[in-house]
Amino acid sequence: MDHPDYDVAVIGAGGAGMSAALTAASDGARVVLVEAGDQVGGSTVLSGGVFYAAGTHIQRQMGFTDSAEAMYRYYMAVNRHDVVPDLVRKLCEESADTLNWLIALGVDYRPEGLYYSGAEEIPRGHKPVGLGASIVAALDAALGKHPVDVALRTRVTALITDSSGQVCGFRSGSETISAGAVVLTTGGFGSNPEKLQRYFPDAASAGDWTWYIGSKGSQGEGLDLGQSVGADIVGFNRGLVLLTDNFAHDVQAQLPAWLLFATQGGHRFVNESTNMAIVVEMVLGMPGRQCFGIFDEDSRLACHCATERNPSYQCELLASLADSGKLIRAMSLESLAEQAGIDADALLETVKTYNNAAEAGHDERFFKDAALLKTIRRPPFYAVRYKPASVALTATGLSIDAHARVLDEAGRQIPGLYAAGETTGGVLGKIYTASGNSIANAIIFGRTAGRNAALFAKK
Ligand SMILES: Cc1cc2nc3c(=O)[nH]c(=O)nc-3n(C[C@H](O)[C@H](O)[C@H](O)COP(=O)(O)OP(=O)(O)OC[C@H]3O[C@@H](n4cnc5c(N)ncnc54)[C@H](O)[C@@H]3O)c2cc1C
Repeated sequence: MDHPDYDVAVIGAGGAGMSAALTAASDGARVVLVEAGDQVGGSTVLSGGVFYAAGTHIQRQMGFTDSAEAMYRYYMAVNRHDVVPDLVRKLCEESADTLNWLIALGVDYRPEGLYYSGAEEIPRGHKPVGLGASIVAALDAALGKHPVDVALRTRVTALITDSSGQVCGFRSGSETISAGAVVLTTGGFGSNPEKLQRYFPDAASAGDWTWYIGSKGSQGEGLDLGQSVGADIVGFNRGLVLLTDNFAHDVQAQLPAWLLFATQGGHRFVNESTNMAIVVEMVLGMPGRQCFGIFDEDSRLACHCATERNPSYQCELLASLADSGKLIRAMSLESLAEQAGIDADALLETVKTYNNAAEAGHDERFFKDAALLKTIRRPPFYAVRYKPASVALTATGLSIDAHARVLDEAGRQIPGLYAAGETTGGVLGKIYTASGNSIANAIIFGRTAGRNAALFAKK
């Protein structure tokens, strides 16, 4: 196309799309950023903004020596190498620079925001002041300094191709806009029950317990748009689904680590302070895909403050949940087991062993920190039923290469088409590596897509 309306059209204005648009515009491209919603931000604006990165100056400031190589090895081990190595390598190698890019744009990542966000040996989770909203605000402010056209309330309904098969624009309803290259950054499909069923059945399997914590705009339209021009979909049944008690639609990023987690068979199965993504994987493999959090009256009375990572654990709230029947309560462990459908003999034995560990201050089965071991002796006793049902993000999506070019089933590039963020697959594995993985993915590949789409359009 000789004179397209724009050099680069970016579809979807979350973290990935805003990063792509900003990068393409900084490289001199004429850019349109198209957003279906009435404001920019997508799920990114709702997020914690945690960014997973290695070898950062913040880590060094806190006395940690880390490297992209160490992050890569950890990432590949956690995912049993079942991810696209080139993409993961890029994610690791560009993580520190990209975090600095966000900081230079004004996002306030501080040393005290550094924490262990997965099961890593060196903390790599970087949490900003102002959470994900601060990332979106910084990107928005930076975009305002470039002549980027931002089209809100504009849902892209189709891609257009030229006679050679090159993607050369899009359609929104009856309007057609031409572009030298198109970047798909439409986010995940957590808000679309049909796509959850099709692409992330583990998340859909909790039936009416399943709910999505993100943006309504996460309809998976990027997958349809990509497929309409031959894109391959990779990473089946992946994403992050959190355990939920179904008390309310609250985000529970971490369950209280002082609970005793038991299977329906009455057995303790994990160190309860283990990263939630790992616990979820275990629960998904259990009969009934559920587990139980067991505690007693002393523990309930000690629950005084809900935290941002878990709003449910306050003693009065727990009492009212028990009154309403949502939390199982009984005066004996046998009766608790019977009400919950747990094997009573096994549960009694499990609690006995756990109480001994708590009294000895040593958990010889799972080595949980002694401070998190609380005896379960004083009635009434409580059991919370947990299911992996709260969908945080999805990770089945368009196949891309390390240049963020969209690929077909044969691994061939679809000319003119790029993608980044939650609409892509292959970067995130079956187990969510750590908090910050998805924002890092969105921003790093968003920038890559923007840069390469601008280059392609210039050619
Ligand atoms: C509550 C919450 C907390 C989270 N916390 C973290 C965290 O701390 N760290 C982390 O790494 N991850 C976190 N995540 C996940 C992370 O936020 C997302 O995976 C990431 O932000 C996705 O970015 P994105 O740009 O790909 O998609 P989004 O930010 O969702 O943006 C996609 C945009 O595309 C638009 N769109 C969709 N279809 C169309 C269409 N057809 N036409 C035009 N526009 C369209 C949507 O409206 C949306 O605005 C969290 C998620 C949630 C919901």
